[in-house]
Amino acid sequence: MSSESTPKETTNPAVDGSELIRFDKVTKRFGSNTVLDELDFSVDSGKHVTLIGPSGSGKTTILRLLMTLMKPEEGTIKVGGRYLTHEEKNGKLVPAGEKYIREVRKNIGMVFQQFNLFPNMKVLRNITEAPVQVLGLSKDEAEERARGLLELVGLTEHIDKYPNQLSGGQQQRVAIARALAMRPQVLLLDEVTSALDPELVAGVLDVLRDIAHTTDITMLCVTHEMNFARDISDQVLMFDSGRVIESGTPEKIFTEPEHERTREFLSAVL
Ligand code: ADP
Repeated sequence: MSSESTPKETTNPAVDGSELIRFDKVTKRFGSNTVLDELDFSVDSGKHVTLIGPSGSGKTTILRLLMTLMKPEEGTIKVGGRYLTHEEKNGKLVPAGEKYIREVRKNIGMVFQQFNLFPNMKVLRNITEAPVQVLGLSKDEAEERARGLLELVGLTEHIDKYPNQLSGGQQQRVAIARALAMRPQVLLLDEVTSALDPELVAGVLDVLRDIAHTTDITMLCVTHEMNFARDISDQVLMFDSGRVIESGTPEKIFTEPEHERTREFLSAVL
């Protein structure tokens, strides 16, 4: 285990249960399809929150809004006390500009279903590129950080390979290291094992369990892996049609769900 994974080494300054993410009456539409309908929810710093629910219920849309890959039609989103959707100018809230968004987004890391590594760069450079280009780290600092993270994800010996020389599971572990290299306050995980062959899923989930249990990073996770959700989550949110219909600890949601829709969903996936 590298020092990257110990709480002391993380840069998340306020792991004090303060609110890190807040959605306030967020509505997202695609044409006439209202995908999120005045959604309110929040995630406290240092917590691991899992979004579950049927396909098409809006879970990925939430992560994509947080990554500023799209904007809501209505409502506000805050990360670390700063609006993601708006910026304050002369005491007024105006739609956020690109420069401001880039700044706030530095606090957010995301791992996608498809690993999206840079195919023309070796593993080490995949991880160092953004810390050097975006955070202004020196090459040496970025490489030291990358080596620590490669140890954390168990890929030290693959440092000089290109993505296409790795299995899907290994590529996904590089993608996790790449996201962590930016030392984000929050890590968004979007069904990160769903594109993997079944025998590669466990290795990736083990790495994420390790990160969840040994670091103070906030995690917001969309997954169909219910055992994983049960293991790592402080809170589980059950979505249906763009609304949180039930939330609670994994024990509550998985063993005593209150809502009929949650019971139906869980009996179909468990
Ligand atoms: P989930 O992650 O719960 O499966 P999504 O957030 O991916 O759900 O999708 C919610 C709904 O939004 C679906 O009906 C989907 O078809 C629609 N949707 C998502 N992205 C787009 C898009 N870029 N354009 C049009 N419709 C979209």
